[in-house]
Amino acid sequence: MVPKRTQKKLLQACRTCHKVLEADKTMCPECQGNALTTEWFGYLIIIDSHHSDVAKKMNLTYNGRYALKVR
Ligand SMILES: [Zn+2]
Repeated sequence: MVPKRTQKKLLQACRTCHKVLEADKTMCPECQGNALTTEWFGYLIIIDSHHSDVAKKMNLTYNGRYALKVR
């Protein structure tokens, strides 16, 4: 029998810049911070940070996945 992987991969978010990272990351590649948390809400994908109003509002300068709220 092949063992099934039932555990979901948790995503975490950076408390400093709100970037969403894989669970195995220990450092944020964007701001070099290590204040990561799994307590975050809302999912935001920025594809064109320079022309996005949401990105401007949240001060996001890079494209990628972000958390709306981080605890
Ligand atoms: Zn960060």
